[in-house]
Order: sequence, then structure tokens, then C-alpha cells
Amino acid sequence: MFEFSKGLIPAIIVDIHSKDVLMLAYMNEEAYQKTLETKETWFYSRSRQSLWNKGATSGNRQKVQSIQFDCDADTLLIYVEPSGPACHTGKTSCFYRTVPGFSEPNEKETDIFNKMMTEINDRKVNPLENSYTNYLLSKGIDKIGKKVIEEAGEVIIAAKNDDPKEMISECSDLFYHIFVLMAEKNISLSEIEEELKNRFAKKGNSKGDRQEIKNW
Ligand code: AMP
Ligand code: ZN
Ligand code: ZN
Ligand code: ZN
Repeated sequence: MFEFSKGLIPAIIVDIHSKDVLMLAYMNEEAYQKTLETKETWFYSRSRQSLWNKGATSGNRQKVQSIQFDCDADTLLIYVEPSGPACHTGKTSCFYRTVPGFSEPNEKETDIFNKMMTEINDRKVNPLENSYTNYLLSKGIDKIGKKVIEEAGEVIIAAKNDDPKEMISECSDLFYHIFVLMAEKNISLSEIEEELKNRFAKKGNSKGDRQEIKNW
């Protein structure tokens, strides 16, 4: 379908949910075929002159959801489900800089959950001194898991105390620690969103083993 012999084909990578442009990279025929086979993005690195599977080392993979091509079939537009930031700097998208003299394009109102997750992922690549997130990440899954359980317990205590303020505070603690655990395991918010949307669509007629959750 594509004339790879004429050179590399640029692939614009877009988040299937937010529709944000995440990155641009090039594909040769082999990268394109591997992308079709594995349903993950593969590119051809011009600097390293070799194939790379996005996320192979960082864990930030991209599950391919749809592929479009342009009018003259020389550019790909690939919609992905990212399992973490696309940029090696830890930013969600590679396009986070603006040329001087231009103002930033109207910034999309991102919800606090996404902002929080973006910041936590950023800490993984750009550690901050005295950052509690970096402290947790350095301790690993056991420590983070312990905190998740501890905060879950505190949520229950708050619920029993019938104190809305305490409940809000403890739920916030719990969300934060779960987010850190997700970041540690390269699970993205959009993957959770996808799962919840599937359950929402199926509600009422699920025969799953977790009926109590799926049949909300
Ligand atoms: P990853 O594919 O995320 O495991 O990263 C492996 C290597 O690929 C990085 O060290 C970078 O050299 C390169 N890389 C990863 N993501 C990007 C990107 N969005 N743009 C350009 N190069 C990248
Ligand atoms: Zn074109
Ligand atoms: Zn980048
Ligand atoms: Zn707490």
C-alpha cells in the first residue's frame, strides 16, 4: 500500500482518548509490518539506523488501535493506547515546547487526575530532591503497596468516623498512592479508563466472576 522504496514514512502517533499528538517517528517497511503483526508501534531510528519497538526499554509501550493514511499514502496517523509517556523526557507528548514569539496553543483543560499522573511519570525520569514520589519509587512495589493498603485502611476508618473531610483527605491519599503504583508498573490512566468504559457498556448483563464490581 505504501511506497517504502522511496524512503521512510513518517508516522504521527496520537492518543486514542485525548487525541493529543504524542510523537512523530519514521517507519520502514519492516517497522510497519511489525507494527501490524504485534499491534505495538515499531519505528526505524535514523540516528541509530535500526528498528526499535517503542517502550522496549522504558516500558512505555503503545498499543495500536487504528491506523489511517493520508491522501497520497505517504504518511501514517496511528491511534494508540499508551501505557506511559511517549517522550523519553517523561512528558506525555514530545510536543511540549513552543517556538519563541508564539503563544502556546489553547491549553486543553486537563483534569487533575491526568495532571497528577503526568507529574508522577515525570518524576521517574526527572527526579526531584526531597520528592516523596521519588522516595516511594526508589523503595519499589513492596513499600508502595504497603502505603496503598495503609491508606485503604484509613479510608475505612474515616468512613466509620462519619467525617466527610477526613474521608476526602484519605481517599485523596489512596488515589495518589495507587497512581504511584500504577506509574511504577507502567499502567496508564487511559488503560483504566478503557477498562471502566468496557464495564460501563456491559453493565447489567455481565456474568463475570467479579459481578459485584462489573454490575454497578
Ligand atoms: P523506549 O522505546 O521508550 O523504550 O526508549 C528507547 C529509546 O528510544 C530512548 O532512549 C530514545 O533514544 C528513543 N525514544 C523513545 N521515545 C522516543 C520519542 N518519543 N522520540 C524519539 N526517540 C525516542
Ligand atoms: Zn501525503
Ligand atoms: Zn520526546
Ligand atoms: Zn492517609
